[in-house]
Amino acid sequence: MPVTERLYYSDSHLIEFEARVVDLTDRVSGWTAVVLDRTAFYPTGGGQPSDMGTLNGARVVECIDDGDNGVLHVVQGATPARGATVHGRVDWSRRLDHMQQHTGQHILSQAFVTLFNAPTRSFRVLDASCQIDIELNNPTTEIIERAVELANNVIWEDRAITILNVTPDQAAELPLRKESTREGELRLIEIEGFDLTPCGGTHAYRTGEVGMIAVRSWERAKGLTRIEFVAGVRALADYRKANKSAREVAALFSTGRDDAPQYAAQMVEEHKEQNRRIRALEEIAAGAEAEKLLATASNGIITQIFDGRDAESLKKLAHALISNPSTIALLASRDKDTARLVFARSADASGDMNALMREACSLLDGRGGGKPDLAQGGGKNIDKIDDALTHALTLLNRDS
Ligand SMILES: [Zn+2]
Repeated sequence: MPVTERLYYSDSHLIEFEARVVDLTDRVSGWTAVVLDRTAFYPTGGGQPSDMGTLNGARVVECIDDGDNGVLHVVQGATPARGATVHGRVDWSRRLDHMQQHTGQHILSQAFVTLFNAPTRSFRVLDASCQIDIELNNPTTEIIERAVELANNVIWEDRAITILNVTPDQAAELPLRKESTREGELRLIEIEGFDLTPCGGTHAYRTGEVGMIAVRSWERAKGLTRIEFVAGVRALADYRKANKSAREVAALFSTGRDDAPQYAAQMVEEHKEQNRRIRALEEIAAGAEAEKLLATASNGIITQIFDGRDAESLKKLAHALISNPSTIALLASRDKDTARLVFARSADASGDMNALMREACSLLDGRGGGKPDLAQGGGKNIDKIDDALTHALTLLNRDS
């Protein structure tokens, strides 16, 4: 005879009950686990999280199924004495949420079997959504939405849900959606004219109580199709969230919610086009800047330190400079907290830019390198940027 009579097996809507304390154990957490002779609290199992609530006003934070040893109620607060009678109360909003997700899963799983012969391999209730892994090959959003449509029709037909307790022999004669791994008497959940499956969880009285089912996303995972869905109160919460996001995006475009994707796509295209134009203008600007700098060249060498230019910008300018014959460009930039260097020479000029870059970067506590005609680098020792450039220029003049 099991220690705890499980009241939730016969009535999923029972949330208040009286019971007697049969055992107490201290948990590592410092809290106490209370075992009762009967309980309406559902313990974690079968993909469904534990109920929460109160025992004589003390908070029940989790319930654990300890098999024949009963259901452990982990209590935070004043612990009742052994032998005492306690008043239990299950949080109804949490129970309703879990029943909607769990019953919704039975309906959705059967919809995939009915339409595509695709059985469910696992199920879990997460914080804000649920997951099922199904044997559905070549999934598409259209295929998945057909199952969602069937599931919602079954919900809105408000079919009766009944609990059947049968022997293994009786169960063997029935068209169960999945085999049970339990021994002895089996608890079956029947959704009128639609689904029959062994299960120990809490379910709605009728399918209408599930409200609705919506799929958030799906992906292929480990050879199966993983579907993330929401039912009942979670579907409404998810709709509110999705609607808020969509409306916020639409407001950025001063348009209606449903027109936002079109405006966003248009803006992405414009952005790409603008980038192309900016790159073209940068080429022109670098050419004009190069002409000015060439006027300052001594022996065909240009040295210049800029503020706030990135490596790409320095390289563009260097390319514009060395398109002129017999030209060497030693360029530097203080780019936020980093010193950046780009050294380049035209094909007919002499000097090893790679070697110069390595020497210069050692002064910056940084790294750099490249080819004999073009090298780049940098370092964090930004105060030495003048020294690094002077050093490179000295080496260049000495070697030439
Ligand atoms: Zn179930």
